[in-house]
Amino acid sequence: MANPMADEMRRFKGNDDKNPFEAMSERFDRAARLLGLDPDLYAVLRVPSREIKVYIPVKMDTGHIEVFEGYRVQHNFARGPAKGGIRYAPDVSLDEVKALAAWMTWKCAVVNVPFGGGKGGIVCDPRQMSEGELERLTRRYTAELLDFIGPNKDVPAPDMNTGEQTMAWIMDTFSMHSRHTVNAVVTGKPVALGGSEGRREATGRGLLFTIDEAVRALKLKPSETSVIVQGSGNVGGIGASLMHEKGYKIVGISDISGGIYSPNGLDVPAVLEFLHTTRSLEGYPNAEPVGNAELLELECDVLAPCATENQITLENANKIKCKILAEGANGPTTPGADEILYEKGVFVIPDILANAGGVTVSYFEWVQDRMGYFWSENEVNKRLREAMVASFNELKGFSERHKVDTRTAAYMMAIDRVAYHTKMRGIYA
Ligand code: NAD
Repeated sequence: MANPMADEMRRFKGNDDKNPFEAMSERFDRAARLLGLDPDLYAVLRVPSREIKVYIPVKMDTGHIEVFEGYRVQHNFARGPAKGGIRYAPDVSLDEVKALAAWMTWKCAVVNVPFGGGKGGIVCDPRQMSEGELERLTRRYTAELLDFIGPNKDVPAPDMNTGEQTMAWIMDTFSMHSRHTVNAVVTGKPVALGGSEGRREATGRGLLFTIDEAVRALKLKPSETSVIVQGSGNVGGIGASLMHEKGYKIVGISDISGGIYSPNGLDVPAVLEFLHTTRSLEGYPNAEPVGNAELLELECDVLAPCATENQITLENANKIKCKILAEGANGPTTPGADEILYEKGVFVIPDILANAGGVTVSYFEWVQDRMGYFWSENEVNKRLREAMVASFNELKGFSERHKVDTRTAAYMMAIDRVAYHTKMRGIYA
């Protein structure tokens, strides 16, 4: 009997595409084939709507001008304004930003948030820059994008190396040019400026909710479930804390400089306090030091890569020992690794669901800003839980009904929803 999924998996064999846009496109193509997506819709949805490249002059503290390269990619608007973070890092590339923008389109559709997808990035090394230089960089980048962003157009948010302060600067710059305060232009702002309670923790909390559901589906108990988290920033650090609070045993955690492992479980608040004080995990007492690559291959029930792309590849997928892979980061697994994990029977909570808690609460923030009425943290967390649990169960059901792996199911569900909107609106061609 024909098994389209097995044929699809064979296509990925040996393919370890690390270009994030190509890796996204391969998953998109597979889902489109399995859906039998109309060729016209395929042609429209496969590419971004708009790619913007800007050169940003910044007066450095030394008095000289340095010019930085920045991007904003708006992938799709069929379901609403573009939505997505802005990343500051030396290795940001247009292909990476394009992939991240597309992932936002699919992510918003998976959790049924009425936004499209966007993403931005600036090639810079924020660790080498002063607060003043970062503020000037952010304000001039915002000024370059004034015509393209706005509450009804494209709503940026934080991502790697950007945070509440960055969002406050964007909001202020946009508001100065608009001659009135426009707090719905960004999400992830400080609460005092129209941010939402619970937004800071939302991605980590959403990750916890999806892990809870997967753990239940696999008939495990949190207190008997060991977890390894790669990355200890907004997603990994907060995710690990919340899981620790819930009774999960966090046996390993890392940051960019390396990790620590303790089979008896780590005291996560103490680890994060140590990291906060010393800015590294090196020298943390009562735990074994481990490298980031080694950390991923250790024995655990749940592995949560929450740092960056391309961490689980053809090279190490066979050595992954977890039962559940919860992708807190965007794109941590390559297409070739997907096939190996599928054969090994690992339950994958794909990134576009696992880390969708952030955009879900961003949507709540945008709604609250536009209403001018703000919810309590309990209300936000309750709505977040409902959204994540419902999406997890829809995804699990879809994957079982269509006999496809959970990542393919997530893409199929998302593409189907965006295609439905696009078809109903009609293609203005
Ligand atoms: P962050 O900057 O707060 O933290 C990143 C963490 O990963 C840090 O601990 C850093 O030391 C570590 N890290 C960075 N590069 C690494 C590498 N090469 N190897 C090992 N560790 C490394 O960033 P974040 O906001 O937590 O984002 C992490 C990932 O989650 C990214 O892929 C991001 O796109 C994704 N994400 C974030 C959010 C959010 O709301 N913050 C939402 C959805 C997805």
